[in-house]
Amino acid sequence: MQLQSRLLSVAIAAALVLPVTALAAVPAGSPAVTRALGLIDGHGKSFQRADADRFVARDVIVDSDGSEHVRFDRTYRGLPVIGGDVVVHSKNGQLRSASMTLKTAGRPDVVPAVSADQAIVEAGTRFGTGFQGVPTSRLVVYARGAAPALAHEVVYSGLKADSTPTDMHYIVDAKSGQVLAQWDTVETGKPGSGGGTAGGTAAVGTGKTLFSGNVTLNTASSSGSYNLTDTTRGGGYTTNMANGTRGSGTLYTDADNIWGNNATSDSATAAADAHYGVATTWDFYKTTFGRNGIANDGKGALSRVHYSRNYVNAFWSDSCFCMTFGDGDGVTYYPLVALDVAGHEMSHGVTSRTANLTYSGESGGLNEANSDIMGTMVEFFANNANDPGDYEIGEMIYMSNPGQAKALRYMYNPNLDGSSPNCYSSGIGSLDVHYSSGVANHFYYLLAEGSGAKTWPNGNYGSPTCNGSSIAGIGRAAAQQVWYRALTVYMTSSTNYAGARAATLSAAADLYGAGSTQYATVAAAWSAVSVN
Ligand SMILES: [Zn+2]
Repeated sequence: MQLQSRLLSVAIAAALVLPVTALAAVPAGSPAVTRALGLIDGHGKSFQRADADRFVARDVIVDSDGSEHVRFDRTYRGLPVIGGDVVVHSKNGQLRSASMTLKTAGRPDVVPAVSADQAIVEAGTRFGTGFQGVPTSRLVVYARGAAPALAHEVVYSGLKADSTPTDMHYIVDAKSGQVLAQWDTVETGKPGSGGGTAGGTAAVGTGKTLFSGNVTLNTASSSGSYNLTDTTRGGGYTTNMANGTRGSGTLYTDADNIWGNNATSDSATAAADAHYGVATTWDFYKTTFGRNGIANDGKGALSRVHYSRNYVNAFWSDSCFCMTFGDGDGVTYYPLVALDVAGHEMSHGVTSRTANLTYSGESGGLNEANSDIMGTMVEFFANNANDPGDYEIGEMIYMSNPGQAKALRYMYNPNLDGSSPNCYSSGIGSLDVHYSSGVANHFYYLLAEGSGAKTWPNGNYGSPTCNGSSIAGIGRAAAQQVWYRALTVYMTSSTNYAGARAATLSAAADLYGAGSTQYATVAAAWSAVSVN
């Protein structure tokens, strides 16, 4: 995020802008894309453009006042520039600002001194044994560091010891052979091949869920039976992994369109929870932001339940565009299919199709925080008396949780988990992304609810501030709009905490004005978590 964004915020303080047109996909020959490319050509310095840079459009958002926000990935001499992505903000054909983290137009020479095979070997010493398939590599310009470097991006896939799948990306310097960075594109809820044809005629069944009571499920009728395909939400469907770890699982089918028995004794119960959670998350994004599915293209995704054995996690995977839910260990944890967990995982998909926050360092913490924030907003949106809204993550999955005292994470006071910091400090990027998320979770709670004590399902409490300030919240309705606009319009893949502050301020200025209470509260809430 560059200084220009702050100037922009001031410049358009009077114009309160609501995003209305978020194009489903970037159409070939989109006039907004053509205009943005023209602005890059005419203002190369503003984009740290090198002569051999090229730009590939990934998303277009047009506001009700005609402002255009076009997101691009960048290549240099045909090589992907990791960290070179940019959002071009314009109005009436005039450049307003650019959102990006790249700070130089300098580029490395593109002749590797280290071969791809050597890079795969080097990355392999980190990954260890047990990978599946053949590791891949591609030459890239790695531009998340101080100076862009030529590198091999090596990907190893496999299963971790706890059976979480992994698609590990290693950035191996193509000159020195050093591993510069690594991250996973399987994104979990916490640290740590079947058959059946989806689809048919729209039908409405009943889910007897574990966590959310008896709910309406949108299903499909086909060949005299029902299946868990949601024809009303892009054909998203739910399958049974039957304790396996490979493939897509077996589509759930049923004779009477009543799914589960409110207990884990019926395999379809967890499926009902997942199907309901994903449908609710879909509706949350549609109703709240006008977003049409994870990729905003109207297409539903696959949800897999009963993954592996005693698996205490859930995850999103970019490579399968799917969500996966474990059964828990049956001793401490129920299946991980609660509403906030489903909202969390599906929101990883939304991130991957928007800001694409890299899953390491501070950007990884912001990626995790986005999933906790949106998962929590889904829980409030559902307004389900069996799982009322709160700012805890995963409180329902504990088999014994008197007074709901336990949760995976606590947004109002992240340090209650023993690992997540409440306040920003410069070393935070070295923490696990599920802990470095704490600062942004804490910010969001203060922004929405304020610091004073409130009544929640598990008691009356407030939220401590790092600077001793008192914050009056702006409410969930405004806070979620600010956060979503920051994510989709202003954040890019390498946005850090300082960039998140700037992005949310830009979003608040667009939505409510730079002189608004909402804008001032965004600033105050970041300062209250030591992001200044
Ligand atoms: Zn996550």
